[in-house]
Order: sequence, then C-alpha cells, then structure tokens
Amino acid sequence: MAVVYPESENDILELIDFSRKNKCKIHVISTGKNWGYGSAQGTTLGQIIVDLSKMKQITELNESLGSVCIQPGVTQDDLSRYLQKYDSRLQADVTGAGPATSIMGNTLERGYGHSDYADRFANIISLRVILPNGKIIETGYGAYKGARAKYTFRNGVGPALDGLFSQSNFGIVTVMTIRLQPKPECFCLMVGVCKNENDFIPMVVAFRELQLNGTITGFVQIANLKRAVGKTNINIEGAWGMSVSISGPKALVKARKKIIKLAFSAAKINCRLLFLDDLKIRIVDWFSRNIFSVKSFENLAYLIDLKKGIPSNEPLKILLDQESADSNLNPKDFKVRFRWICATSPANPTDVELMYNIAKSQFDKHGFEFRITLSFVNPRTVLMIASLNYDSSEKAVKSADDLYVQCRGELLKNGFFPYRSGSGMFDELAGTCDPNTGSLLKAIKTIVDPDHILSPGKYNI
Ligand SMILES: Cc1cc2nc3c(=O)[nH]c(=O)nc-3n(C[C@H](O)[C@H](O)[C@H](O)COP(=O)(O)OP(=O)(O)OC[C@H]3O[C@@H](n4cnc5c(N)ncnc54)[C@H](O)[C@@H]3O)c2cc1C
Repeated sequence: MAVVYPESENDILELIDFSRKNKCKIHVISTGKNWGYGSAQGTTLGQIIVDLSKMKQITELNESLGSVCIQPGVTQDDLSRYLQKYDSRLQADVTGAGPATSIMGNTLERGYGHSDYADRFANIISLRVILPNGKIIETGYGAYKGARAKYTFRNGVGPALDGLFSQSNFGIVTVMTIRLQPKPECFCLMVGVCKNENDFIPMVVAFRELQLNGTITGFVQIANLKRAVGKTNINIEGAWGMSVSISGPKALVKARKKIIKLAFSAAKINCRLLFLDDLKIRIVDWFSRNIFSVKSFENLAYLIDLKKGIPSNEPLKILLDQESADSNLNPKDFKVRFRWICATSPANPTDVELMYNIAKSQFDKHGFEFRITLSFVNPRTVLMIASLNYDSSEKAVKSADDLYVQCRGELLKNGFFPYRSGSGMFDELAGTCDPNTGSLLKAIKTIVDPDHILSPGKYNI
C-alpha cells in the first residue's frame, strides 16, 4: 500500500499512466475523513491511496450569482474563512463533519449539510473530471466552448453527465463548481424539545406539510435526546430535540414563525418551541458570558454556527466520549469506535415509524444505546441515521458487527435502503440492484476505465 499526494492534474495523469502500465489499483480521497463510512481506506487491500488534499485552490467566486469553483482539498474551514476574508455576502453550506473535512468528497458521496443548500449534490453546477482512461471531461456547459452560462446553468444541453461521478468509480473530480447561498437578512434558528418518544410521528407530518407548502426551506433535523446531547453534561428533559433555520427576509421570518406555531398547535404536537433570532442570540450570549452561564444555550452555539456556514468540531465531540473528543481528533486515538447505519423512508408516519421500530428493536436486542437523527433530505423523504458506538474490545467489535449486519438486513428486507455506503460496506448492497441497471453501469465502467484501476468494487461496480 502507498499514499501519494498529487498537486496538479498533470500529477494525476502521470499516476494513471503509471497505474495502467503497472496494473496497480488506485483509490481517491479528498481529505479522507469519511468517518463512519470507511474513512480513507480503499475498496480492497493494496491500493494506492490518492490523497488530493494538496489541491486546495478556490477560484471564480461570483458574488452576484452566488457560485465558486473548488479543488478537492478545499475543506469546510478553508471555504468558510475564504468567504470571511473577502467579506462575502455569501455563505457555504456546512455538514456536522468538522472544519477539516472536504466539500468535494462529501458532495460526491451525496452528503447533506445544514442549510437551505443542504442537498449538496443538488447544488453542484459543473464538474471537471479526469477519467481513468486518461481523458479529461467537463459536465454541463463546460463541454461547450464559450458558453456564457457555464457557471450558472447545470443542465447545459444534451445528456446530464454529472450524476455519473457521484457514488461511483468513473472518474477523479478535480474541480467542482457549487452554488453558494446569500446570507439571510434575518437569521432565525427554531429549536424545540418534545416530551414523548412517539412525538416524532405527528412531527413528520407537520414538517412534511410545512416544507411542501414552502414555509420551511431549511434542513430539518430531529434527534433523540441520547443522540442530541451524547455524553455531554447537558440535562434536558424530553425525548426528542429538533432544529431548523427559518432565516430569510425579515417579513418572511415573521410570517414563517406564525404559520409554524399554528401548524404545531393544530397537529397537537407536544413540543416547546424556541425561536432564536440574531438579537436574542446576542442578548442570551452576553447574559451567559457576563451574568449567569446558560448551559443549554452554550450548547446550541455550534448549531447556530452550522446554520450560518461556520464548521464546528462540536458534533464529533458529542458523538464520542470526552477523552476521545479532547484528543487531537485522530481516529487512531479514539477510545470509541463508531459506524453509521442509515436508511431512507417516504415521509409518511407509518413508514417512518416502521423504520424507527425496526432499528430500535435491533439496538435493544443487542444491548446498544439507540442514538438517532431523523432528517428531511427533501420534503418527501426522511433519512434515519443511527450511530453505532462501541469500544475496541474483541467482544464489543463482534457485538457491533452482529447488530450492524442484522439491523441493516432487516431494514433492507423492509425496503429501507441506505442513502450511501462506503469502503468495507458495499457487500451489504450486493445483489440488490436490478441486473439491467447493473450491466449498464459495468459497461460504462469498461469504457471510462478499461483497466479497472479506479476503486474497483465501489458501490459494487
Ligand atoms: C461527527 C460527524 C458528523 C458528520 N456529519 C455529517 C453530515 O452532517 N453530513 C454528511 O453528509 N456527512 C457527515 N458525516 C460523515 C462524514 O464524516 C462526512 O461525509 C465527511 O465529509 C466525509 O469525509 P471527506 O470529506 O474527507 O471525504 P473523503 O473521505 O475525502 O471522500 C469520500 C469518498 O468520496 C470519493 N471521492 C473523494 N474525493 C473524490 C474526487 N476528487 N473524485 C472522485 N471521488 C472522490 C472517494 O470514494 C472517497 O472515499 C459526519 C461524520 C462525523 C464523524
């Protein structure tokens, strides 16, 4: 095994040439922090890991149209600081994965952030890709010399190719143009705590309707309290916490608040709602720092940051035990091991309840703490992510493996598929894809990668 650090497209082209001639396999990472989904490992043993973290350029920031071009090594922190440095009116979407993680790797794996632009893959405009056969292509209008709308109109003309390069092994993306969101006139974070375990069911309907009718445009996340507070010393009574940004023009925020309150009361949702706008945040922050520490507010600070496009290590700290969180955030030093079990469901109460009950009964059966989030990845789909935490003893690893396999199996059997997978995990999807689709994907792979050098077996292709 070797790790190489290309600094340019030419370096990558040379590496491809070398790999084809020497029959080596390669696996590409942007920052390699795909923690819980296989981290930086390749798809099989002995691959050359191509770490693109040295390709860090940010170009073409367009203030008026809201877009920017980034290279693979650009981290959430890099882009956030870049926008601050140029006093930009724009903000980037950020995930809970921390400042040092890439935007590109996460977006290509179709990850979700926390803002109105949370569906990161949907907010790609164009890609520049090196195919493993040594050719370079661009998607959208990038393929049409002189197209003025290259950085604004994703579709271009003709077949849309960009989807081929996400969750696949068809190419190495070297530049990605993404949309950036203008900072809202009025920031407002809505948070709430629900008392009972079953309260998520009416919330699914209320949030679905509020998104379908356009009241809520931000990323809605509901977390059971074990997941929301983790091992921190926050003491909140209840079963669920939820958060969403309802920011926008001032008049819109006011109207949104009113509609949401009415919807929650009509649905008889037993939930304490709190709306934190910039003024309230400043007052509570001042009070907490100078008069009396308001612990629950201090623990909301990172959520406010995430919604404003500022990445934070806090979610990782909540996921881990304190000792690991205080380490230098190197997984080798973590006492806690973790893995995600994710599944998607239509946003119907009966489906979401079934998905929840399947996972919960498996966690209970195997004696693991059930820590989950339910997120609306669009108004019609709820994504459940359960975090499976365990220690490194042989017994714990075996129990975690058993739970993972059985829980994953039950979810799949009932039609709840994962939204992404990862190195070491692709077997779980083996045989689930329709053969006609599978053979089309294999045929494409043979054209773009005749020597099968790039991540063979990724997503079973
Ligand atoms: C506490 C915590 C919170 C998290 N929160 C979130 C969250 O809110 N949302 C979310 O989506 N995830 C989340 N994650 C999961 C994961 O950590 C992130 O998705 C993380 O951003 C992925 O790591 P990376 O950016 O370093 O990607 P990488 O590891 O660099 O890339 C991931 C994969 O993408 C492919 N790839 C990368 N770069 C390229 C390229 N240039 N060309 C072609 N293929 C490429 C490779 O197959 C690679 O294995 C979280 C994890 C933790 C531990």
